[in-house]
Amino acid sequence: MRIANGKLKSFLAVAALFTAAAFPIADSEKLDFAAIGKIRDEGFARSQVMDHIFWLADVYGPRLTGSPGIQQASDWAMGRFRQWGLTNVHQERWKFGKGWSLVRFNANLVEPQEQPIIGYPQSWSPGTNGSNVAEVVRAQITNEGDFAKYRGTLSGKVVLSQPARVVRMLEGPIILRMDDKWTAEAMTTPVPAPVGGGRGNNAEFAQKLREFYRSEGVVAVFDRGSNNDMAAGGSDLTWEQQHPDGGTIFPNGAGPRDEHAGSGVPVVTLAVEHYNRMVRLLERNIPVKVSLDVDTKFIDEATMNGFNTIAEIPGSDLASEVVLLGAHLDSHPYATGATDNATGSAAMMEALRILKAAGMKPRRTIRIALWGGEEQGLLGSRAYVREHLADVDTMTLKPEHAKIAAYFNSDNGTGRVRGIWMQSNLAVRPIFEQWIAPLADLGVTILGPRSVSATDHVSFDEVGVPAFQFLVDRLEYNSRTHHSNMDTVDRVQRDDMIQQATVIAVFAYDAAMRDEKLPRKALPTPRTRPSQ
Ligand SMILES: [Zn+2]
Repeated sequence: MRIANGKLKSFLAVAALFTAAAFPIADSEKLDFAAIGKIRDEGFARSQVMDHIFWLADVYGPRLTGSPGIQQASDWAMGRFRQWGLTNVHQERWKFGKGWSLVRFNANLVEPQEQPIIGYPQSWSPGTNGSNVAEVVRAQITNEGDFAKYRGTLSGKVVLSQPARVVRMLEGPIILRMDDKWTAEAMTTPVPAPVGGGRGNNAEFAQKLREFYRSEGVVAVFDRGSNNDMAAGGSDLTWEQQHPDGGTIFPNGAGPRDEHAGSGVPVVTLAVEHYNRMVRLLERNIPVKVSLDVDTKFIDEATMNGFNTIAEIPGSDLASEVVLLGAHLDSHPYATGATDNATGSAAMMEALRILKAAGMKPRRTIRIALWGGEEQGLLGSRAYVREHLADVDTMTLKPEHAKIAAYFNSDNGTGRVRGIWMQSNLAVRPIFEQWIAPLADLGVTILGPRSVSATDHVSFDEVGVPAFQFLVDRLEYNSRTHHSNMDTVDRVQRDDMIQQATVIAVFAYDAAMRDEKLPRKALPTPRTRPSQ
């Protein structure tokens, strides 16, 4: 930089010009530090977030969409919302297909020795019609050509559908706290990997395989989950260091919910160690028998259906505009859905409780939405967007689209908020820089520029609503808890959750009070041409 003359005044003027040209500078945010202080005090001194998690996970978990658990959890949440004085408390229903819940599961090795087996029937699996003792066999069927090899050989058998998987010694990172290395990584935008080729019609083959097993009289299919043995990736900068062993299972896949619901045979995911033992015995021609009892229930769509749970704190002078806080209430059935996502749901609930208890009078309406169907493909948040905001295919916008000031999401587990993913929205950086400054002592320092996916903020981002996922310490989320049979309240970290809910309350308040809604990215282009 060249200083034009010696006077300090003109140096400052030049410096200001230079800065303005180099970086997008937002007007100074008029933050209400007294209000932020009150929010922090209510959130830290009188937190109820662990109580919300207890009810959502220990009492009403699992909360599979279309099951009694999620209905009871939603009824309980609505009761709390009314107790706190929130308004417009209601459920919004959308089409889901058949619901499902587990009634009973029992599996024991009986030959060569008695041994209880750790496992869990996959969601939407049918039952076995009572207890069965059956011989176990290996069958590797990966395409329709393999059907002929096994035709006539599987009747009355339990099929092991995968080869054994190596179980490695525990090593590498299990708990992910954002250290300097991770923080530096989060502040970059990686170049995306090349898009892979088509994967063929997996759904069609899966349905044919279900029909084959059924027609051949197979009693049940056992698997041991994904092929991940922790060796893949290698780098310690890998977000997905899952440890699918040590009695922790991550059942994959789910049966159909449509007219094919219950059409296959029971599929049970086993602990890899128990699965591998059976494979090793069979490879040496030593007979393996199990006793198995799977009882499941399919729930008619008419009685259950998918739904979202909604409530709000009405705004004042900008009441028609909305700051939306969202988290998915539904879980997989394999545990109690504690970190995926009772934690996010409880944090959002607690944020509203804090704002109400601290006597905040937001300018914009602050609305909470607890989604259903996230685990089956962001179904609840997509239904909300379709109903209220926009058609993602044609990008036809509804009037409410212009009224959403921001959408914030929490769905990466029990960790404290370390920052926010800005979802490639370049204009929010100077605003968020100011919002996080009074939260730096709580560890909130990271503005991640990249777009992240795989949860409900995507439904809003893809129609051009400013939508953000909080960046949290993942802790054991990837390695142990999410989608596993061990996602229980034991793995929820109290101090982190108190911080998470409080930080979210501050973000919601700041978004509800600023003069303008948050800046938007360019509107996405329609996926389909409008009809002529
Ligand atoms: Zn999940």
